[in-house]
Amino acid sequence: MSLASKSLTIKLNESDPRSSLIQSLKREKILKSESVEDALLDIKREDFVWQGEEALAYIDEPLPLGDTGQTISAPHMVAIMLEEAELSIGMKVLEIGTGSGYNAALIAHIVSKVLKNTDGPLVVTVERNPKLVEFARENLRKAGYEKIVLVVEGDGSLGYPQGSGQMIYDRIIVTAGAPFIPPYLCRQLKIGGLLLVPVGPNLSQTLVKAKKIETSDGKYDLRQQKLMQVMFVPLIGQSAHSN
Ligand code: SAM
Repeated sequence: MSLASKSLTIKLNESDPRSSLIQSLKREKILKSESVEDALLDIKREDFVWQGEEALAYIDEPLPLGDTGQTISAPHMVAIMLEEAELSIGMKVLEIGTGSGYNAALIAHIVSKVLKNTDGPLVVTVERNPKLVEFARENLRKAGYEKIVLVVEGDGSLGYPQGSGQMIYDRIIVTAGAPFIPPYLCRQLKIGGLLLVPVGPNLSQTLVKAKKIETSDGKYDLRQQKLMQVMFVPLIGQSAHSN
């Protein structure tokens, strides 16, 4: 057996719970691209769940992050958002809602694949809960992504740097439910960039995919597409839910 086919056999071994979850996401046509599949294969979800939850890591459900009241999102939801984000190598990405750091690690895997030395972090992820900031930093350090991912403690509804009007990011991915699209996130997206954000009331939102386009008067507009109904914990902040 050649080395290549041996590694393929290992990768697609369905008796391994990670591989069988990935195969099931492929059968359901949720997982479509090689880059997202490779990231899901290489990043171990059990290293990002709360201590004691490791045995549940490959059940396709959100899991509680200790007593924080927050969750690591279900793998199918993570895969849907990563596919819709249309990520590619070298992109600068802002994630709002770090939680465990799992989604940030997957994003980092995709955008930094062949890049050994990046000029600063490619992924910035913002989390408001200090306990989760520490948890995610440690998880990302163990996974080897501490140089690619910057974990910031703060209110991500104002973007990062907070309140900046600069167009910085190729992609912005919000993993908490916002009452409306936070204006600073629109400003910080580059022209041609994509924003993914669940919009709606607490625990019942529509996942919106928006593309920033330049208008004839030199301003910009967001071309919005409603993808599906989703259920995220609320985005809480100055430009979001108040609690
Ligand atoms: N992406 C995470 C992961 O991979 O584990 C899961 C995110 S969890 C569903 C949503 C997170 O958004 C929570 O950790 C919550 O504390 C955070 N959050 C809510 N409002 C926020 C805000 N304004 N700024 C930053 N983080 C916020």
